[in-house]
Amino acid sequence: MEVDLAIAWLRAAADSVAASAGELTRLDAAIGDGDHGVNMSRGFTAVIAALDAGTFDSVGDVFVKAGTTLISKVGGASGPLYGSAFRALGKALPAGPSVTAPELAAGLRAGLEAVRKLGKADPGDATMVDAFQPAVDAFTGDDLAAAAENAARAAEQGARATVDLRARKGRASYLGERSVGHQDPGATSTALIFRALNAVTAK
Ligand code: ADP
Ligand code: MG
Repeated sequence: MEVDLAIAWLRAAADSVAASAGELTRLDAAIGDGDHGVNMSRGFTAVIAALDAGTFDSVGDVFVKAGTTLISKVGGASGPLYGSAFRALGKALPAGPSVTAPELAAGLRAGLEAVRKLGKADPGDATMVDAFQPAVDAFTGDDLAAAAENAARAAEQGARATVDLRARKGRASYLGERSVGHQDPGATSTALIFRALNAVTAK
């Protein structure tokens, strides 16, 4: 992955969360406060503006900029969580204009660990971790396109599986058993972000 591809991924993610903002909001309205679509589109719009305003020699710097922007621009749980993930990803990458698929895999795992450290969610708690963890586990091998495709599929499966889970973290956990039967909005947006990576890397 080169700097341009990293930026292309974030652009594709921004387009995707904007196009799905209504759906993310609808999911969050059912078990939360109905702001996830707005939070995500506002955050990724700010990310694109920040990237457009800068120049980047290193792939890691692109993700650190994306992460700090999300942390500063998005209220709500998801801003700091996604922001920490992208910042940890950026910091974990070796400096330079290009990274390999295994380096990106290690960076994504660092991003997941940052989310888990901040949010203290385990797999099965019906959060973004339920899409992020399987995506990282599936992101293997030297072929970036194949890794991204497998990760996207795993993230979507993980997001769908949150329907049957009881939420144990975040606002949805206040509903207790009544959260069962609803897909987690953050897991859904995580799947969109991995599908965007698949879209820009597909051969
Ligand atoms: P808020 O819950 O503050 O309104 P958002 O609606 O933008 O923020 O994001 C909600 C999503 O954030 C949830 O669907 C869930 O995936 C994720 N989330 C909330 N709390 C946690 C946590 N402690 N750990 C991991 N993810 C979390
Ligand atoms: Mg919300």
